[in-house]
Amino acid sequence: MHIAIIGAGITGLMSALELLEQGCSITILDQQAAGQAASWAGGGILSPMYPWRYPNAVNTLARHAKPLYQAWNQKLQPSSGIDFQIHNTGMLIFDESDFEIGLRYAEQYQDPQQQAQLLDQRQLGQINPRVDQTKFKQALYFPELANIRNPRLLKSIISYLRQHPRVIWQEHCKISQLDIQQGHVQQISSENGLSFQADQFVIATGAWSAYWSEQLGFNIPVQPVQGQMLLFKTPEHWLPSMCMHKVMYLIPRRDGHVLCGSSMRQVGFDTSPSPEIRQDIFTACLEMVPELADFPMVKQWAGLRPSSPDGIPYIGKVPHLDNLWINFGQFRNGLCMGAASGKLLAQLMLEQPTFVDPEPYNPAQRLETQALAV
Ligand SMILES: Cc1cc2nc3c(=O)[nH]c(=O)nc-3n(C[C@H](O)[C@H](O)[C@H](O)COP(=O)(O)OP(=O)(O)OC[C@H]3O[C@@H](n4cnc5c(N)ncnc54)[C@H](O)[C@@H]3O)c2cc1C
Repeated sequence: MHIAIIGAGITGLMSALELLEQGCSITILDQQAAGQAASWAGGGILSPMYPWRYPNAVNTLARHAKPLYQAWNQKLQPSSGIDFQIHNTGMLIFDESDFEIGLRYAEQYQDPQQQAQLLDQRQLGQINPRVDQTKFKQALYFPELANIRNPRLLKSIISYLRQHPRVIWQEHCKISQLDIQQGHVQQISSENGLSFQADQFVIATGAWSAYWSEQLGFNIPVQPVQGQMLLFKTPEHWLPSMCMHKVMYLIPRRDGHVLCGSSMRQVGFDTSPSPEIRQDIFTACLEMVPELADFPMVKQWAGLRPSSPDGIPYIGKVPHLDNLWINFGQFRNGLCMGAASGKLLAQLMLEQPTFVDPEPYNPAQRLETQALAV
């Protein structure tokens, strides 16, 4: 079976990997270079930020992130030569109002990755001596939470897929038209007049996905939500754990880089970073770790999250069409849901038993209530 996937972010790429594993051949299309949009810009925390604030459907996919990425890292590394560094730093959360509910969440799910404990000041100092203990005397600690180096993850997948004999690449190729006849996509066409045929088609176009509303006859409620990020360079192992307070966070990488984020703004498809937001993020992160001010900021950027109602992605077949599938709307959690989103889509497309209940992500009912008047 030949499958054309529109969108080479983490969602499209993981879908491609899973389908290839099952013997399919793939054409990957992107309007720009692969792996340069939200999936590059994100932080790579392998969990929703405060999981108890999210619907079960989001956490269910996110919970598979670490084991699935570990397995992919092993599989891809020999051919890509890239270790995408699943960094087990644990996470400290300083929002007091979340302590109790966070502990209850951890207890309820008994998931080894979501074990949690409330640290007192002495324990906090031992786990992360960089935290400002004049401000924070306690923290909720998730010792098993990890982050992934997402730009390397993308590089590794892309390198593997470029070497794969059953993959065709079409970058800088914006798909603008679905040619639909009698409930079947015959082909898709690009802005510059190229057409592509396949047995099945997948739309994994992230924040750009509402573009398809008109052609599909549904209002697709996916909007770009800009997030900005700062990058600092500290010595290796300088910051021992991820830290979070008031939805702002610090993420240490193995080589001493520390990512700080992030903002949330609806400004269309604008990805220009701004000095005001840089200051907001910087101030919030210094509150947690004041000594960060001693180190150079090496970069600032913005990316576009694909928002969706409740943050639950749409994964499944498009209603009334027999060969068009979608996988988008992962919002703030596309990196941690990416591996499982791809796996679920592949199982649905190949009519295999699914490893999670697919219903919460099923586009059928959710999109049909959004049918556009004609
Ligand atoms: C600042 C920030 C921090 C984040 N932190 C985290 C985090 O810590 N953990 C986490 O899990 N998630 C995080 N996220 C969210 C995560 O990055 C996204 O949910 C995820 O990357 C979405 O992946 P995607 O593949 O759906 O979209 P994208 O990576 O945006 O890929 C979509 C692709 O589709 C292509 N495309 C669109 N339209 C067309 C078309 N018509 N034709 C051809 N190609 C097209 C685009 O060019 C793009 O390459 C963060 C996001 C941001 C911005």
